[in-house]
Amino acid sequence: MTAQVIDGRAVAQAVRIELRERTRRLRARGIVPGLAVLIVGDDPASAVYVRQKTRACEEVGVHAEVHAFPADVAQAVVVQRIRELNDDPRIHGMIVQLPLPAHLEIRPILESIAVAKDVDGFHLYNVGALVIGHGDSVFPPCTPYGVMRLLEHAGIAIEGQNAVVVGASNIVGKPMGLMLLQRGATVSICHIKTRDLAQFTVLADILVVAAGCPNLIRPDMVKPGAVVIDVGINRLPDGRVVGDVDFASVKDKAGFITPVPGGVGPMTVAMLIRNTVRAAERVAGSIEPDEVEEALSGEP
Ligand code: NAP
Repeated sequence: MTAQVIDGRAVAQAVRIELRERTRRLRARGIVPGLAVLIVGDDPASAVYVRQKTRACEEVGVHAEVHAFPADVAQAVVVQRIRELNDDPRIHGMIVQLPLPAHLEIRPILESIAVAKDVDGFHLYNVGALVIGHGDSVFPPCTPYGVMRLLEHAGIAIEGQNAVVVGASNIVGKPMGLMLLQRGATVSICHIKTRDLAQFTVLADILVVAAGCPNLIRPDMVKPGAVVIDVGINRLPDGRVVGDVDFASVKDKAGFITPVPGGVGPMTVAMLIRNTVRAAERVAGSIEPDEVEEALSGEP
């Protein structure tokens, strides 16, 4: 079997076209959706991600502004800027590019973002809303939300399926597991202390891998015909960017697979813009339904 490759770039492009139209309608009413991106230090990977996000915003007509701070910035300075942006009516969404330097305390920084502008979905309120399935009020974290949209696009049934998530981070693995649970999957979340990872992964109808380990998943760890979603982004010493799945060999065993690059990554950016447009629509009092929301709620 050769897996069907799910083209994240194409799906993300379709989402952006929909968002451009929604942004046009908001602009016609005098509302320009605005995103503020805070970045601390000069980590090159973070700089690339920030550029990707701001460029994609501009492409759909969303205003994006970068607030850059030196690596040794004081916590209070970052929090003060967030408070100012909370009160800035031009800004509908705000994110803090992670990781942060070690001297900064991440939780108080994320908790100082107004819930209504927390378009990364990392504030405790939004995390809690996701846990209890309070879909309407949350900004779902962009990467797992993007995965749900890819599954929806590929027509993959989730209810009743065995879903295995490899990786248990707060920004990918845990919310991914919760979203799949919300849609009726039976979910296992594996992590570094999981004994015999393959024992779990071979049972997965849907396998989502977000560990940050190149070639962690080999064909013998995959159920024939499984849906394999590779969230990992790893830069090898030779400069190549690969995922966590050995794509070349696993694609001959899986039913569906996402490539790296060109799979989940573009969806993360598209979902960030979607959350920002959504935040602006809330301010405008005219929330528009979108396919993405249906992907999360499971409602028609
Ligand atoms: P993270 O915070 O480092 O979390 C990785 C998780 O995987 C942790 O739970 C870790 O367990 C677990 N893990 C690591 N090695 C493992 C192994 N050999 N077996 C089982 N579990 C293992 O990373 P993250 O932020 O979730 O990101 C994960 C990957 O996705 C990275 O490659 C990142 O670059 C990528 N990513 C991609 C996107 C995108 O848009 N495509 C977005 C975000 C992240 P412990 O914590 O117990 O060590």
